[in-house]
Amino acid sequence: MQSVEVYEQHRESVRRFAEQEVKPFAAIVDRDARFPAESIRAFPKLGLSGLPFPENLGGSAADLMAQVVTVEEVARTCASSAHLLLTPWVALAPLVAAGSDELQRQIVPRVASGQAMASFCLTEPSGGSDLAGIKTAVERTADGWRLNGTKRFISNGGSSDWYAVLARSGERAFGVFMVHRDDPGLSFGAQEKKMGTRGSPLSDVIFDDCVIPHGRVVGDPSEGYSLMNRILTYSRPLVAAQALGIAQGALEEAIAYTSQRSQFNTKISRFQMVRGMVADMTTEVEAARSLLYRAVAIAGDNDDRARGFASMAKLMCSNTAMSVTTNAVQLHGGYGYLEDFPVERMMRDAKITQIWEGTNQIQQLVIAKYAYSATE
Ligand SMILES: Cc1cc2nc3c(=O)[nH]c(=O)nc-3n(C[C@H](O)[C@H](O)[C@H](O)COP(=O)(O)OP(=O)(O)OC[C@H]3O[C@@H](n4cnc5c(N)ncnc54)[C@H](O)[C@@H]3O)c2cc1C
Repeated sequence: MQSVEVYEQHRESVRRFAEQEVKPFAAIVDRDARFPAESIRAFPKLGLSGLPFPENLGGSAADLMAQVVTVEEVARTCASSAHLLLTPWVALAPLVAAGSDELQRQIVPRVASGQAMASFCLTEPSGGSDLAGIKTAVERTADGWRLNGTKRFISNGGSSDWYAVLARSGERAFGVFMVHRDDPGLSFGAQEKKMGTRGSPLSDVIFDDCVIPHGRVVGDPSEGYSLMNRILTYSRPLVAAQALGIAQGALEEAIAYTSQRSQFNTKISRFQMVRGMVADMTTEVEAARSLLYRAVAIAGDNDDRARGFASMAKLMCSNTAMSVTTNAVQLHGGYGYLEDFPVERMMRDAKITQIWEGTNQIQQLVIAKYAYSATE
């Protein structure tokens, strides 16, 4: 970890960037449910696309705290853009951790420079919570690895160039495989119509006798499950940061609105009940931020405690996002219900953070496991 000042300087520069390059398009991207092309084109200007990747692969080797601060600041203005920023980071994390040098060199530099995008494919039609129950199968043939199955709810599905796929390689064995959009036997379902993060594409990714070269396996083809589980300790703080950024944005909107709106010839920010709500919202955001930063500080340990804290951060930040955005809508009165004000979008965007990267019920299971093991 670096000094607080370094992260705060980084926050300032990402905030300025997001205000100029991301925020102006956030409402339009949501309204038209279209790809936030402006953000995606702008991310490489500040080196954000390659932030977590090693320098020899074209990245900046920024630590998790810098990544979290970045996602927070982008999500503060546009949750869809933050979703699209962090998805390739998570998708390539197994490859960077365990992939061959050749495969890393083939994939990472183009994603780091923003020329290519990547998705991760865990969830299937039969379920997302029960990762060990996935059915997508892979077998080794003379020509390469052959994949069959369907992945559901894949962020950036159809838009990404690369897909990191968890597939069953044996009765109790799983591997991670890198599939390219042009590989034979790969296709995509229709784009889903969503409640929020409407700028982030979502579709099925379908493997029908999809054959990829032997070298596209990431590490040991029977160790993919534990590899993916390790990555969750990294990815959950990023999703928590997305949630926290949404909450921060909504809090600021609520303060701005209540400071200029008058009722009973009085600024509504003078009413004690309004002040009480803003006080609670501020406290929730700061408490969630403290927990997230604590989780980030120990994430590298990758033990039960680190996993527990990653889940606590994801649980608390996403619940905070939901409650703070709902109260921000409330504080806008009827105007909060209109598309004219961003809090309506923020409330819809907040919901996904309680669902993806493991629902909050799954986070509770992980936290309880840690809590009981810690007192044994
Ligand atoms: C917008 C969006 C983007 C997504 N992006 C991706 C992506 O990029 N890659 C990817 O792989 N997946 C992605 N997902 C999938 C997401 O991670 C799953 O939807 C999520 O993990 C839940 O899986 P499920 O939808 O199958 O629900 P289920 O697993 O069927 O769960 C349904 C309900 O049952 C509860 N439940 C399940 N098991 C238990 C239990 N043991 N105890 C208590 N409650 C339980 C859940 O909490 C939930 O409330 C995305 C989903 C959405 C909507």
